[in-house]
Amino acid sequence: MTTLDDAWPADPWEGGWHCAAHRLESPNHGVRPEGGRGIDLIVVHSISLPPGEFGTGAVQQLFTNTLDWNAHPYYQGIRGLQVSAHFFIDRMGVPWQFVNCDLRAWHAGQSFYRGRAQCNDDSIGIELEGLEGLGFEAAQYQTLARLCQDIAQRYPIAHVAGHEHIAPGRKQDPGRGFDWAVLQKALDWPRHQFPPAAPSGTPPPH
Ligand SMILES: [Zn+2]
Repeated sequence: MTTLDDAWPADPWEGGWHCAAHRLESPNHGVRPEGGRGIDLIVVHSISLPPGEFGTGAVQQLFTNTLDWNAHPYYQGIRGLQVSAHFFIDRMGVPWQFVNCDLRAWHAGQSFYRGRAQCNDDSIGIELEGLEGLGFEAAQYQTLARLCQDIAQRYPIAHVAGHEHIAPGRKQDPGRGFDWAVLQKALDWPRHQFPPAAPSGTPPPH
C-alpha cells in the first residue's frame, strides 16, 4: 500500500508544482503582479459539487473549464464561472493541483487581509472537499498540514486564513466545521499566524 510518505518526497517541488499532487492544469490563472515574490498567505476554502456531494469529479471539471453546466440544476447558477485554486484536497486526503504556485489562481475574489487587498495576488488557495457547516476528514487535515509545511519551505508564509476571513460577509467557507486548532497543532506555527478565534457562543460542530 502506498502511504502519504512514499508519495511525498523530501523536496516535493518541481518549480511551483508539488510532486505528490495529481496535476490537472487549469487555464484560469495569470501572472502575479510582483513576479511571485511575497507570497505570504495560504487561503483555506471548502467546495463540493453539487454542494454536499463528494467524489463526483465536478470540482476538478469546474477548475479546468470542463464542467457540463447542464449536468445538474445547481450548475445553472454558476454557468460560465471561471475559477481555480492551486490545490484541492478530496475527502480521502488526496491532493490535486491546478495552478503553478508561482502563478496567480482565481480563488479569493474581492478580498482583504493583513492590510492588503486582492488576496489572489500574493496567496496560495487550497480547497477542501466539503460543505460549509460540516466537518472535515482527518486525512484532509493531514494533507493540508503537509502541504502548508511544504508551501512554507518555498514561500515566506506568514498567515493562514479562511475565505470567510479574507472576504467576510461575502464568503462563509471553509465554515464552522473547520477546526483551526487542529491545523495549528499539526503545523505548530504561532497562533498569530491564524485567524482570530470565532466569537464566543459559536463553537465549531463536531
Ligand atoms: Zn472559497
